[in-house]
Amino acid sequence: MARAMLIKNGIALIHDSNNHVIPTKTDILIQDGTIAKLAGGIQATDEVEVIDATDKIISPGFVDTHHHGWQTQLKGRHANELLLQYMVTGNYQHAQYSPKDVFYGQVGAMLEALAAGTTTVVDHAHITNSPDHAKQGIAATASSGIRSVFCYTPMAIVKSFNPLTFHPNPLEEWVMRTFSELADQGPFGDGRVTLGFAWDQWFLGPDAVNSVFEKVTGKGVKTITVHGTSLFNVTQILKGYGLLDRRALISHGGNLTQEDADLIKEAGAHVSATPSTELQMSMGRPLCFDAAFPGDVAAGKRVGVQSNASLGVDCHSNNAGSIISEARIGLQNARNHFGEHYTHQGKLPKNLPDSLSVEAAFNLATIKGAEAVNLEQEIGKIAEGYKADLVLLDAMSPGMIGAAQHDPVAAIILHSSPADIDTVIVDGIVRKRDGKLLPISVDAGASGIVGKETLEWSEIAKEIVKSREVIQKETEKVDVAEAMGTMMGMWQVPAGLIVDVN
Ligand SMILES: [Zn+2]
Repeated sequence: MARAMLIKNGIALIHDSNNHVIPTKTDILIQDGTIAKLAGGIQATDEVEVIDATDKIISPGFVDTHHHGWQTQLKGRHANELLLQYMVTGNYQHAQYSPKDVFYGQVGAMLEALAAGTTTVVDHAHITNSPDHAKQGIAATASSGIRSVFCYTPMAIVKSFNPLTFHPNPLEEWVMRTFSELADQGPFGDGRVTLGFAWDQWFLGPDAVNSVFEKVTGKGVKTITVHGTSLFNVTQILKGYGLLDRRALISHGGNLTQEDADLIKEAGAHVSATPSTELQMSMGRPLCFDAAFPGDVAAGKRVGVQSNASLGVDCHSNNAGSIISEARIGLQNARNHFGEHYTHQGKLPKNLPDSLSVEAAFNLATIKGAEAVNLEQEIGKIAEGYKADLVLLDAMSPGMIGAAQHDPVAAIILHSSPADIDTVIVDGIVRKRDGKLLPISVDAGASGIVGKETLEWSEIAKEIVKSREVIQKETEKVDVAEAMGTMMGMWQVPAGLIVDVN
């Protein structure tokens, strides 16, 4: 159990009952991983570790509601790619991963997220090539120290390339058996890592889908996450299967209509917008801000799904694994659409609506993320009784100076980088201190693969480099054009939909 801890003299970002952020000078006493007391002048005792937060802003830990943690070895390769290319050069490269590759990819991702201030992540873990692959994903997540809803993902497993073929049965006996075993074994990592469920294989039909979700529901899973795309209407599909409820977390949303948005809100379901990948990969406007939604903000209607939205990184193989960065990109993109809405009419807006404020962006990255995983009573804000998931940012850094003193929320959303994040605490345990990641304790589930009890970041980095080289060599052998053609045939992509701009 974590030691008691007292954070003194910081400026904490406290949410009031209307979810406004009130910067408040306060001490924070942490006991048993929980915020026990918020008050000025709390006296330290001998048993308590004191952290001096003078000149620090203390934020609730950030919540990332859509991430594929295994993809660290693929970073950089998608810089100029669109979704269909990524599917082959990214998603389908799961076939090149051994369980050991999964461990180092996953732990690298979770540490990148922690270093950037993310304390909770929803992992859409489509790396279930075998039971061992899933288990190493969980072991790596537990080892990192992050809080996670690790969503076990039955998937179409690539069997070979040139030509692209898949294992014929995506629901072999081991797939749901392993899910059941893991559900019975969890939670992992001292309770920080709980099992969720991810699913995209609607094409298997009602018998298979109903049978799968009978098991998922039977195990009491609280988060079911699915990809929304512009190729099919996942909101209606979820509704049709009786799955559109508080458990449902739809990433992207794609072609969401206003009717879909209303259904999502009525059901208490949530959306995860991932601005970087959505903007890059022609996946529709990020739906996290009302003004980005095709409703009429100008008419004063608060349409859209901002009330049920949150933010995700999606592919850290494509973009930085920082949820603050996603909040910034999403906000500025939505402001652009807001502005264009008027300039296209030959008008100029005088001010921004509250829904496009830095506070709104901050809330998407904190309390709205917590709501998306039904943990709003435990994480996402700094309050007594909440988990001690905290991020201390340096108010005196070159990036933050001036802004941090004027408006700490603006400083975080528009001026900060992961380098400004001095300390990260999850469940009352320090994971980053003085700007550096601390060594991790390797979870028992990975001890055979790692061969030692603790790992420094520098050791992890070397293993990622080695693993990346092997995976990259194999990827270079793949006939990408052939695989894309086969995939589009499988997906029944209509002829004439795809535009080749070269
Ligand atoms: Zn995704």
